[in-house]
Amino acid sequence: MAESKKRFFHVIRENYCKGCSICVAFCPKHVLELRNSKVFPARPEDCIGCRMCELRCPDFAIEVHPVEEKAKFEQSVSFIDLSLPPEAHHV
Ligand code: SF4
Ligand code: SF4
Repeated sequence: MAESKKRFFHVIRENYCKGCSICVAFCPKHVLELRNSKVFPARPEDCIGCRMCELRCPDFAIEVHPVEEKAKFEQSVSFIDLSLPPEAHHV
């Protein structure tokens, strides 16, 4: 039986994305592109979860998580004050 592919989703803080395209350039699977000068996960099904985009973004504007964490993330996101700089949440 074929092994099921692990899937990922992207959290994008548009307020912090300056459209520099660094994440687009570093993504080895060409998942990301710019739309209206903001990053957009155009092909999330191709994401391998390497987190190069997250690690290379100078503005903490993109995060990558396994889809299994999506519900948990959506529950907790209501407790995240997005008016704060995103690095403030990385304690
Ligand atoms: S997510 Fe970060 S690296 Fe990607 S375009 Fe926006 S600011 Fe640049
Ligand atoms: S985690 Fe890796 S494969 Fe997925 S969008 Fe980011 S750089 Fe591309």
